[in-house]
Amino acid sequence: MFLTIKNVSKSYGKDASYTKVLDGVDISIASGERCIILGPSGSGKSTLLNVIGGLDEVESGEIIIDDVDITKLNDKKLVEYRREYLGFIFQFYNLVPNLTVRENIMVCENLAKKPLDIRELIKILGLEEHQYKFPSQLSGGQQQRCAIARAIIKNPKILLCDEPTGALDSKTAKDILILLENINKNYGTTIIMVTHNTPIKDMMDRVIHIKNGKISNEYVNKAVLPAV
Ligand code: ADP
Ligand code: ADP
Repeated sequence: MFLTIKNVSKSYGKDASYTKVLDGVDISIASGERCIILGPSGSGKSTLLNVIGGLDEVESGEIIIDDVDITKLNDKKLVEYRREYLGFIFQFYNLVPNLTVRENIMVCENLAKKPLDIRELIKILGLEEHQYKFPSQLSGGQQQRCAIARAIIKNPKILLCDEPTGALDSKTAKDILILLENINKNYGTTIIMVTHNTPIKDMMDRVIHIKNGKISNEYVNKAVLPAV
């Protein structure tokens, strides 16, 4: 397996305010898989993404990516892991307001060892006519497409998406999901996405339901799962 989460637990607070947020979570994801994490608000979905992304520390358990347990990495190695492996997209695009679309993407292009071709990426994401505009001149869907380009330009192995369609109308949301599909097909990016919405099942290889910090249900779409 490419990504294995083993018995991961995490809690916040002490005594009366003690909350167990992740409670013995086990997940295995193959390279190039599209995985979606569903669950009610407060069930631990964002925390799970943050521990995979190395933004948050686990209390116990292991997160093994390409045979390396990232919970044991020092800060320097963790930054390297994030640079090489991870792209993030969020509900609220987090673009730099005084940079154009192209410049927002170029900031991450310059950090990458082997960036993707920016022109090709701008084309795939339908941003050609918007590339010299500023974020404030764009719709939500266009801003999210720019955020996807920025996350993907360094060709990360994993794209972590936290409610990427949460602020969009349903038509635009569907367009964004289709673009993420194209990214997965073109570049083989493993996609792990947290959402409230029920997405199109055929577009997903693995659907994980999380409730009170535990996996309550897991559905694997064997027809589309890549060979391990
Ligand atoms: P979800 O993404 O499913 O809505 P989260 O992972 O954001 O859930 O949060 C799960 C629980 O952890 C919530 O009860 C939340 O209040 C709590 N929590 C998250 N982050 C913190 C934090 N930094 N300090 C204290 N509690 C937190
Ligand atoms: P750097 O200082 O080189 O940006 P970081 O450790 O901050 O290194 O992040 C490395 C990579 O991880 C970034 O290129 C980005 O894709 C991703 N990342 C980490 N944290 C965040 C975040 N909060 N918002 C957006 N991307 C993030």
